[in-house]
Amino acid sequence: MYDVIIVGGGASGLACALTLVSARGRGWSWAEDRKYLIFDTDKSDLNKAYLRNVPGVQPLLGTELLRIIRAQIEHWGGMEFAQERVIEINREDKTYKVITESGAEYNTIYLVLASGFKEFNIKGLDLEVVENPKSPKPGRVMIKHKDYEVLPNLFVVGTLAGLSSHFTSCAGSGVEVAIEILSRMAGKRVVIHDVPED
Ligand SMILES: Cc1cc2nc3c(=O)[nH]c(=O)nc-3n(C[C@H](O)[C@H](O)[C@H](O)COP(=O)(O)OP(=O)(O)OC[C@H]3O[C@@H](n4cnc5c(N)ncnc54)[C@H](O)[C@@H]3O)c2cc1C
Repeated sequence: MYDVIIVGGGASGLACALTLVSARGRGWSWAEDRKYLIFDTDKSDLNKAYLRNVPGVQPLLGTELLRIIRAQIEHWGGMEFAQERVIEINREDKTYKVITESGAEYNTIYLVLASGFKEFNIKGLDLEVVENPKSPKPGRVMIKHKDYEVLPNLFVVGTLAGLSSHFTSCAGSGVEVAIEILSRMAGKRVVIHDVPED
């Protein structure tokens, strides 16, 4: 059983993953030994981008930004990466079962959908998928939610949550959801702020 599975490793999914693993190694017993997994098919829109409007970041290729965030996640440790397409998700009492293209099955307590706004064709869940009003291009989709939560402990982030398709907006939603999940695990509000070492 995983604690959190993230579907999609682009701007929002990776930001969510980074915040989750950054709770490790702080002496918080509730944060240790958590099992995290992220599925990705490496089709993030960042692969096409050259970013000159990410606050505080020098202009860089989206491919480089993806590489840096993945390395940050690996530095903290504790996140499993799987390059596989998720094709079906089923709700089972208080958990979710995630099924991939290869037929493998994984169970999780929390689930984060971060698969972008181009389409949503993962079977199994009864979700409200509607036209995405923030996209200038027709045919983009979003999943309706309340404060990013779609079903109990199932969240949507990034462009699939209807956010503007900019890195900072999408990454921010991933952070919001990660902090909400960590707070539920801890049973209290969590903030992760670091200060320089002496
Ligand atoms: C040409 C271009 C230029 C851009 N320039 C800028 C810019 O200058 N500044 C800026 O702020 N933003 C820019 N963007 C926008 C930015 O790249 C997106 O807003 C951002 O990547 C969206 O994040 P996301 O997490 O919603 O989706 P994505 O980053 O697209 O990630 C979705 C991920 O989910 C994976 N996935 C999908 N379905 C599944 C599945 N079933 N199973 C497993 N994985 C799955 C995909 O492979 C992908 O990796 C640009 C975009 C484009 C296309």
